[in-house]
Amino acid sequence: MAIRTRLAVWYTGVTAGILLIYLLLSWALLHTQLFRELDRQLAERAEEVRRDILRRTDLRMALEEGLIRLPTTSLGAPPVYLQVVRGNESVTARSANLDGWRLPLDMDLMAVNLQGRAGYKTITMEDGTLLRLYSAPLMASGRMIGAVQAGYPLQDVERVLRRAWLTLAAGGLLALLAIGGAGWWLASLALRPIDRITQAALQIASTHDLRQRLPLPRAHDETYRLVSTFNALLDRLAQVIDAQQRLGADVSHELRTPLTTIRGNVALLRRGAADDPQERRIALDAIEAEVNRMSRLVADLLLLAQADAGMQLEKQLVEMDTLLLEVYRQAQAMATVGSGGVERVTVRLGHEDQALVLGDPDRLRQLLLNLVDNAIKYTPRGGVITLSLYRENGWVRVSVQDTGAGIPAEALPHIFERFFRMPRYGRKGVGLGLAIARWIAEAHNGRLEVESEVGQGSTFTLWLPEAKDSQLS
Ligand code: ADP
Repeated sequence: MAIRTRLAVWYTGVTAGILLIYLLLSWALLHTQLFRELDRQLAERAEEVRRDILRRTDLRMALEEGLIRLPTTSLGAPPVYLQVVRGNESVTARSANLDGWRLPLDMDLMAVNLQGRAGYKTITMEDGTLLRLYSAPLMASGRMIGAVQAGYPLQDVERVLRRAWLTLAAGGLLALLAIGGAGWWLASLALRPIDRITQAALQIASTHDLRQRLPLPRAHDETYRLVSTFNALLDRLAQVIDAQQRLGADVSHELRTPLTTIRGNVALLRRGAADDPQERRIALDAIEAEVNRMSRLVADLLLLAQADAGMQLEKQLVEMDTLLLEVYRQAQAMATVGSGGVERVTVRLGHEDQALVLGDPDRLRQLLLNLVDNAIKYTPRGGVITLSLYRENGWVRVSVQDTGAGIPAEALPHIFERFFRMPRYGRKGVGLGLAIARWIAEAHNGRLEVESEVGQGSTFTLWLPEAKDSQLS
């Protein structure tokens, strides 16, 4: 069932309940008040007559001999019947409008009268009509010697009540129909923006155009929030898809270049280069270098894909000073070129505190080696690379400083992006190293920062939270 129909049904149902309670209460109130007024009139009439009769001194005799006369006039628009009963069985006087007929003598009322009290009762007549009866005792020396009775046929009252009930019910039904209609209309009105959003979303889905945005409503209400959230979602989706497409293009580009080199060298070998040991070595070296490059690329891509999928690292206590020493030794090897062992750049170990962190030693080593690899790659011959480690206010700060080419300010915000490379450095790397390094830092609740000045060099700083005492045991 559509929400608007469901809302309208609920709304109408609840209103119907409230309306029904209201109608029943109104009807009950009307009923009670009508009867109270009627009873009051009956009692008033009967009491008038009773007072009149009691004023007589020869009451007993008057009753006996039927000397009492009841008023024929002023019986009023509701025909109030009056009669006087002698003892508790025979009627001694009755109003003219009774016309030979008499009010029934009810045992229950008589019993009440016998105790000196007046009472009311609704009596069903033989023809099925209802009669409201009031009976007040006539007392002489503490004994009941008769009663004055007043009666009123209830057909009219019943008719009034029935008509009132019908009017109330018909009015209620009409009100309910109107409320149901209004509820449905209001629900449609409230849900119209959702329809518009659905239409727009369907259009975006069918045209595959993620640049489209939904128009924001003017009022800052729930719909506004829904539309802005939807638009923000589209922004994010467009970014992700864009990044995905760029990644696809970058990956295929990165794979095409080594494949071309490999294919070229294979062709060279086929054409006879394999016969000349010198040429063969050069061709095989080139093939090996490209295969290594491709393997690295695939491994890096796999790692980033796992990182995106939320891979958890296996952490343990790591002595960062020992790890940095290992990286330093490896860096020295990397900085040394050729079989003569000439150092292209100098790698130095600067200040080194002892520090423990909770982390994955392989990933941390990979991070630092990426930084060192970059420093060596982008520092010209004769440059200096300094590794240092400080403990500072619960943090472990590891820095890799070089005296290399530096990074221009406009490139700095992008160097951690996947596949970002500065064009002027050619094909030295694929542009994934820093993206991986930053992910590793963040997966350790740390961060990776860079400071750089063109022509002066760069400093990459890794901040890791120091292992707490509680983690040491
Ligand atoms: P790459 O594989 O190209 O080194 P990275 O993600 O490690 O990829 O680095 C991204 C880019 O940042 C590099 O292409 C380079 O232009 C720049 N860069 C990184 N480290 C340094 C550095 N120490 N000195 C100068 N430029 C650097």
